[in-house]
Amino acid sequence: MATQTFKIAVIGAGPGGCMLARLLHRANINVTIFEAEASVDFRSQGGTLDLRTKTGLAAIKEAGLYEEFLKYARFDGESLVLCDKNRKTYLRRSPLKSGNKIAAAPEIDRAELRGLLLRSIPKDIVRWNHRLRSVTEDRVLQFDHGVEKGFDLVIGADGAWSKVRLLLSQTKPFYSGIGGHSFSIPNAKERAPAAYKLVNRGSVFAFSDGKALIGQQLGDDSINVSAWSRRSEEWMSECGYNPQDGQESKQAVQREFSGWSSDLLNLIEAADTMEAPRSLFMLPVGFRWDNKPGVTLLGDAAHLMTPFAGIGVNLALEDAMKLAHAIIDASKDTRDDALAVKISEYEEEMFRRAKKAQQLTNGAMQDMMFTKDAPRSSIESWCTRMASEHMPSFLYPLVFSGIYVFYFFYKFFI
Ligand SMILES: Cc1cc2nc3c(=O)[nH]c(=O)nc-3n(C[C@H](O)[C@H](O)[C@H](O)COP(=O)(O)OP(=O)(O)OC[C@H]3O[C@@H](n4cnc5c(N)ncnc54)[C@H](O)[C@@H]3O)c2cc1C
Repeated sequence: MATQTFKIAVIGAGPGGCMLARLLHRANINVTIFEAEASVDFRSQGGTLDLRTKTGLAAIKEAGLYEEFLKYARFDGESLVLCDKNRKTYLRRSPLKSGNKIAAAPEIDRAELRGLLLRSIPKDIVRWNHRLRSVTEDRVLQFDHGVEKGFDLVIGADGAWSKVRLLLSQTKPFYSGIGGHSFSIPNAKERAPAAYKLVNRGSVFAFSDGKALIGQQLGDDSINVSAWSRRSEEWMSECGYNPQDGQESKQAVQREFSGWSSDLLNLIEAADTMEAPRSLFMLPVGFRWDNKPGVTLLGDAAHLMTPFAGIGVNLALEDAMKLAHAIIDASKDTRDDALAVKISEYEEEMFRRAKKAQQLTNGAMQDMMFTKDAPRSSIESWCTRMASEHMPSFLYPLVFSGIYVFYFFYKFFI
């Protein structure tokens, strides 16, 4: 039973902001999302996300959305191959059975995830076409066409270039050194059977020479193809082609990856439409801010990372779940400063989780994109990092030594 009523503003209707609104709405807490985009399908939401049991999936279950999630989840999407440019395979994972509750990480298209979260909250909670320009110390929200005020708590769920974060810190995301293009192969089974077979309804990650070529199956029968490489921060103006032009970009990527296995190059050859070119930015590992009552952050706004460990959305959903707990607990507390105390506790716990995730992501990126002769030289390091995410620390010596011994022998055969 609530003893305090709060008015909450969430900036950003990404997965983190929508999940938080769903959880607060279910607890009868007054919440409004202000979103810059004009509507739910304003821009392409390409790409697939795998939700992990203890984080993303736990939040989905707590929000009462697991049955709905299962309509869009792809458990066969867990099939994964990690190889090099010659298609030498260093890791192969078969899809797990959907009943495997411990390690299941089903895939869902980004657009479907956002859609199911948005459908789970009343329409009038989201105020589209509200791009936040700034927020003042006393929580006045400045939009293009006016101001909104009177909130007990303003939450920045506004992603990489968060405007809310500016109130809490001067630190800005920095360029990771990696940029590239993403393409799509629509109706891949019919139009590009070889690429479809290679991706095997899951994902192929090929790394070599500071470059990555990734193919991922989406639920609409298309394959998302990403080509990343080490580039200067100004690559979009210095690259010598128009990075906004699909054909020019495709040809440039083909040149850049020439000499790679024809099976892998086939992914680019078959690609059709292109998303906007992208440079990957990140916040410093261990980024934090001094608590300021009435304002906080979640998701990418709080801990932007590159996608090399594939955990950003999971962390955003976990943040939303834990922040909802903090707000709901405070609403049942009679102390005047209950909300401030609970938010401060949420932040401290989130900083610890985020730092671990940032270390994992940064390490995975260094292993595959910045280590000479990767993946051959770095596969053991990469595997131990990834394994440590799922295991208690007392198992590390056993599992890590097993990984090193396995690859010592395996490398004689490839
Ligand atoms: C190429 C790529 C691949 C990825 N792959 C994976 C993966 O496989 N697995 C995984 O877990 N993570 C992945 N991620 C990371 C994941 O996409 C993010 O961590 C996740 O989307 C963060 O969610 P969020 O809600 O915090 O922010 P976002 O998804 O960025 O949403 C922010 C929302 O805020 C809105 N907004 C922004 N500014 C304003 C403003 N001023 N006013 C109002 N609204 C605003 C935006 O329009 C948007 O709707 C990937 C990221 C990239 C770039």
